Amino acid sequence: MFIFSTSINPLNVQAEENYALQAQQLDKIAYEGDDLGAVYTKDSTTFKVWAPTASTVLLNLYSTGSDDEDGAEKLSQTVMDYDTENGVWSVTAQGDLNGVYYTYSVTVNNEENETVDIYAKAVGVNGKRGMVIDLETTNPDNWDNDKYVLQDNPTDAIVWEVHIGDFSQQQESGIKDEYRGRYLAFTQDGTTLVGNEAIPTGISYLKSLGVTHVQINPFYDFGSIDETKASSKDYNWGYDPKNYNVPEGSYSTDPYNGQVRITEAKQMIQALHNAGIGVIMDVVYNHTYTLEDSFFNMTVPNYYHRFNDDGTPSNGSGCGNDTASEHEMYRKFMIESIHYWAEEYHIDGFRFDLMGLHDVDTMNAIRDDLDTIDSRILMYGEAWNLSTNTQAKMANQDNERFLSDRIAAFNDGMRDAVKGNNFEATGKGFVQGGGSRIGVKNGIKAATNTWSGSPNQAVTYTSCHDNFTLYDKLVASMIGLDGSYRQRNEQLVAMNKLAGATILTSQGMSFMLAGEEMARSKDGDHNSFISSKELNQIDWTNVSTFGDLTAYYTGLIQLRKAYSPFRDATKTTVDSMNFFENTDNKVLAYSMENKLAGEDEWSKVICIYNSDTESSKDVTLEGDNLSEKWIVVANDQKAGVLPIGQVSGNVVTVPKTSVMILVDKDSFDKASVRSDEKTTEFKKTLTQSITKPTEKDNITATVTKDDTGTRDTGNPLVPLIIAGVIVGGIAVSMLIYKKFGRKK
Ligand code: CA
Repeated sequence: MFIFSTSINPLNVQAEENYALQAQQLDKIAYEGDDLGAVYTKDSTTFKVWAPTASTVLLNLYSTGSDDEDGAEKLSQTVMDYDTENGVWSVTAQGDLNGVYYTYSVTVNNEENETVDIYAKAVGVNGKRGMVIDLETTNPDNWDNDKYVLQDNPTDAIVWEVHIGDFSQQQESGIKDEYRGRYLAFTQDGTTLVGNEAIPTGISYLKSLGVTHVQINPFYDFGSIDETKASSKDYNWGYDPKNYNVPEGSYSTDPYNGQVRITEAKQMIQALHNAGIGVIMDVVYNHTYTLEDSFFNMTVPNYYHRFNDDGTPSNGSGCGNDTASEHEMYRKFMIESIHYWAEEYHIDGFRFDLMGLHDVDTMNAIRDDLDTIDSRILMYGEAWNLSTNTQAKMANQDNERFLSDRIAAFNDGMRDAVKGNNFEATGKGFVQGGGSRIGVKNGIKAATNTWSGSPNQAVTYTSCHDNFTLYDKLVASMIGLDGSYRQRNEQLVAMNKLAGATILTSQGMSFMLAGEEMARSKDGDHNSFISSKELNQIDWTNVSTFGDLTAYYTGLIQLRKAYSPFRDATKTTVDSMNFFENTDNKVLAYSMENKLAGEDEWSKVICIYNSDTESSKDVTLEGDNLSEKWIVVANDQKAGVLPIGQVSGNVVTVPKTSVMILVDKDSFDKASVRSDEKTTEFKKTLTQSITKPTEKDNITATVTKDDTGTRDTGNPLVPLIIAGVIVGGIAVSMLIYKKFGRKK
C-alpha cells in the first residue's frame, strides 16, 4: 500500500517504462466519491481534485474567464488540503461563488502547472478557466417540463447526423442572422427557404422529414476554434476535446459568460424535444486535443492516457494520443461525464467516437449507469479494431458479443457494400451496379450472421460526416472527379434513392448524414473537418433542386415507421426472411412476415432491389402461400404508405436502379396504416418544387407495364460514365483516405 505525502511525491516516476506501473499504483487509490469538481451551494463551494502525485495544489479564484476582459482580477489563491487516504485535495470557500472563475495550480515533480478542473461544469472564453455555476440559473423557461425523447428500442431510431454550424450557416436557410451557426438556430420554428416560402428549413424541415433523432457533432468545449473571434471564418468538426463537461463556446452568443453557452445548449435540446426529436451527443473520450497540456495530464501526469512500453503515447486514434479507459479514474470520469450530460442536459443518446479504443468493461459500466436514468438512452459507436497498447478487451466489432445488447456499432460492411469502398473515390458498390450482393444482404440482416448479436447492435448507414457524402461518392464513382458535384443528374438521383431505400428497409438502427436525403455535396471533399463553412454547410436550396429525393426519403421513413418488422429489435424477422434464389445477379429480393403486430399492420412485405444500371428486371416472386395481388408502396418514383400501384400474379418488373416494395393486398386493405396530412402535404410540396430536368437530361422515358413496372429506353450517360471511370481511375491513387489525419 502506498502512502502519499503532501510534501513528498512518492511516485516520482521519471522512467517512461514505469507509466504502466504508476497507473497500477494509482488505480489502487482511485477515489470513489461523486463530489469531484466544484460543488456549489449558495453559502459555500467545495472544490475537490484527485491528484495523488502532486506535492501541492492551490485553488485560484478569478473575476473573469481570461485576463483580457474588463474587470479581470485574481481574487485569491488558497492552499488545498490533502487526504492521504484517497488522493483528493479539497478546500471550501465561503459565500455565493456563482459566476466566479477558478483554476488549480498543481505541482508535480517540482513543476507547477495551472490547469482547469477536469470536472468543470462551466468555463470562460476558450475554456481556459473553470467557472463555479449555480446550474439552476442556467435552465431555460419551462426546462422542468422538458422530457427525453426516447424510442422503445434502438432499432426504432432514425438518426440524422448534423453539425451545429452546418445546420444553419447558410443565409438561404431563412434563419435569423444572430442565430445562424449557433445553438439557438434550432429554436427558430417556421423558417422557410429564402425565395420559396413553401419549403420549410431548419427545425420545421426536420419535423416534416420524420427522423426520430439528430446526432450532433461534438458540442462539448473543444480547442480548435478561437471563441474570441465572433465572426471567424474558422471551421472545425470539433473532434478535439478540451473541457468534456461544458458546451462549446463558439456556438453560443456569448462565449465569455460561462452561463450563456449552457443555457443556449439547453434551449437547443429543448427545442428539438418540443419537435419530438431526440438528441444524440457525439462524444470523444478516446483522445484529448493535446497530450502534454491537456488538463488531465496537468493534473495527474501520464496517468489518464495510454502509453506504449517505450513511453511514447499510444496512438490508435491517430490524433497523437489515446486515453486509458481501463484506468480506474478515467473510467470513472467517462461514466460520470456521460451521466452528467444525460441528467443535466436531458441527452437522449451517445455516439462514441472511436469506441474501439475503449474497453468493453467501461462501455458496459456506462450502459449500466445510464440504465439508472433510462434504459432507452441510446449508445453506439465506431467499433473499429484499432491498434492501441492495452491488454484490456476492447469495444470493437469482434467483441460486440461481450457488449450490452443496447450498445451498437456502425456497420461499415453495409456502408461499403451499398456505395463502394469508403476510402476511394471510384470504387462502386451495389447501387452503382457494382460490388457484390453479399455485403448488402448481410447489412439487411444487421450483420446478425457475423459480428452483431441482434439488430439492436448494428447501425445501418451509408454516409456520415467522415468520407464522401453519398452524392459526392456517386458523382466520383460514376462521372469522375470533374467538379460537377452539385449538379442534378437523374441517374445519380436514382442511385441515391436506391441507397436510401436499402438503408431504411434494413434491420438495425437507421442512420444518415444530414442532407443525404437532398443530395448534399461537399464538392468531393472527403475529409472536410477544417474546410470552409461554405463548403460544409447544408445547402437548403437542394430541398428545391432535389425535392423528389427528399420526398422519397420522407416516404421511406413513413414506411419504416409503419411496419414493425423493419424495426424488429430481435432476430425474429431476420430468421423469417426468405431471400429469393432465382433472381438476376444484379437483383436482391426477399419477403418477410409480420410476426410482431396484428391486423392493424400489413402482414407480408416483399422488397426487391434492382441495381442494374442498364435495364429493368422481371422478378418472379418466390415463397409459399404467396398472395395473388400486391400493393406497391415504393417504386423508382415514390415511396410511402399510400398505394401507388397494384401487381397481379407472381412476376413483377422492377425498373433499373430502383427498389420495389410490395404489400400483400389482403392485409393492406385490412390494416389501418394511413399517411398523416402534414407529411402528405410536405411530400407534395417537395415534389412540385423540383427543378425540372431539361429534355436532354431527361432519361426516364418509360413504358408502363402492369401499372407499376417500367421499361427504360437506354442510357445517354454511358459515354460519360466510361470517360469518368478512366479519369477516376487515374485520380484514385490521390484519394486514398488518410483515415486518421482528420481530427486535429
Ligand atoms: Ca472551445
